[in-house]
Amino acid sequence: MTALLSLSGVTAFYGAIQALRGIDLTVRRGEIVTLIGANGAGKSTLMMTICGNPRARTGQILHEGQDITQWPTHRIMRRGIAQAPEGRRIFGRMTVHENLLMGAEVAGRTDIPDRLEQVFALFPRLKERMTQRGGTLSGGEQQMLAIGRALMSRPSLLLLDEPSLGLAPLVVRQIFSAIRDLNRATGLTVLLVEQNAYQALRLAHRGYVLVNGAITMAGTGAELLARPEIRAAYLEGG
Ligand code: ATP
Repeated sequence: MTALLSLSGVTAFYGAIQALRGIDLTVRRGEIVTLIGANGAGKSTLMMTICGNPRARTGQILHEGQDITQWPTHRIMRRGIAQAPEGRRIFGRMTVHENLLMGAEVAGRTDIPDRLEQVFALFPRLKERMTQRGGTLSGGEQQMLAIGRALMSRPSLLLLDEPSLGLAPLVVRQIFSAIRDLNRATGLTVLLVEQNAYQALRLAHRGYVLVNGAITMAGTGAELLARPEIRAAYLEGG
């Protein structure tokens, strides 16, 4: 299988603080890959570095073989990499419909009706709430909107940062099963950051463990779930 995304030796800094230490990571076409790790491990930074902000200081990021390491974020988004960021960050004063249109616009897409149809098929709730302002949606609905907005760009790679954050278990299951359905139905490639390690590893084909800015372990979801050190650090009591 070809690598859709590959990082080699990627480092990133905030001022003098090193947040990523020589990251090697591959996402193949059609895979769901998850990145797990404790608070502050660098998971969000890794997602943001893929999107060019912060830029990688050293190392290389390839998307479909193209070196995008030093590209500006808007150019990376137009290449088909879409991010549904942590904390949702939807536009609270804009309606559901307007939020979704923004997602298509940033990627320069014009096939709006098709895109809307796919998003509404996945999250019918959003269709019911088209004219409601984003800020008045429930937490779960806002997360659906954040994912829906990212999907409006018809990405080749969807970056999902903690979609389960702050949501009730039932809603988390709904979101995760929507991601699985989409991956199975369309082959969408997903890189998923999660603190909810158990569900993320069950969903993902493969996973990486990030500790203090470095990858310490990699394997299939099932392999990582079976490892005693993963169970102790991320699953038990968590
Ligand atoms: P969490 O699960 O809590 O969201 P994370 O694994 O996503 O954590 P990051 O948000 O990537 O971790 O943070 C990695 C490190 O970089 C942390 O030490 C954090 O304090 C630091 N950091 C993140 N953003 C900034 C910033 N804008 N300026 C300075 N330091 C930052």
